[in-house]
Amino acid sequence: MKDMLGIVVDVRHQFKVRPSKYERVIAKIDTQLQGEFKIFNRLLLSFDRKSLGKEKISQWFFPPQGEEPYISTYRPDPFPLDDLTQVPIEHARLERGLQYYKEQRVVYVCIDDRYGYAIVSGSEYYEVEFEYNNGIIEDISCSCYCDGHCKHEFAVLLELQYTLQIVEREFKNEYSKNGYVTTIDKDVVWQMSVRWSNKGTIIFHNQTEPIIIN
Ligand SMILES: [Zn+2]
Repeated sequence: MKDMLGIVVDVRHQFKVRPSKYERVIAKIDTQLQGEFKIFNRLLLSFDRKSLGKEKISQWFFPPQGEEPYISTYRPDPFPLDDLTQVPIEHARLERGLQYYKEQRVVYVCIDDRYGYAIVSGSEYYEVEFEYNNGIIEDISCSCYCDGHCKHEFAVLLELQYTLQIVEREFKNEYSKNGYVTTIDKDVVWQMSVRWSNKGTIIFHNQTEPIIIN
C-alpha cells in the first residue's frame, strides 16, 4: 500500500513491519479543515494562512521529519516564470514534467509571500520548494535530489503559471490581502479530510460561491 493516500482507522491483524515504515503508518495527523475555500475546476483555493497551511498538509503525505535542515551544494540560477525556455533542464525531463502537469500530479501549492512549496505525486510524493519574487523563480529544489532540474520541478512551474493566472483573473483582491494563496486538489481534500469527518457543516451557496467546511 506504499504511497496510497488514506488513513488507518483500525488494525485487526498482527503484523510485522520495520519501525521506520511503521512510523509512516501511525503518524498522527490533523485532517480537520476549517475556513473558506474557493472552487476553481479541480482545485480548492484558500487565502487564509490558517486553512491549508503547508505544515498541516505536508503531514498528509510525509512522515514527521523534524527540523533537520538541508545541506545543499548548489544554488540554481534564477529564471523568469513566464519564460520556462530559460530553465536549463534535460529535454526528457521537461517532457515528463509536462506530462505530470497534464496528469494533474501537482496536488498542492502554497505561495506565502515569496516562499513557495508544492507537493507532486510521482513514483512517490515529492516536495518542491522555491522562492518567487516579482516573476522570478529562485532556488528551486526537489526532494528527489536528482542532479539538476527535475520533472517534478518543471510540473510545479507549469502548475504555478496556471495558479497565478487564476489568481490574477479571479481572485486578485483575496490574494493581495495577505500575499498568500494555497491550492489543493479537491480529491485530496475529500480523501484526507471530508470523508473522515463525522460532524461539521458544508455550505453550498451556488456553483460559483465558496464551500465552507468546519
Ligand atoms: Zn524531483
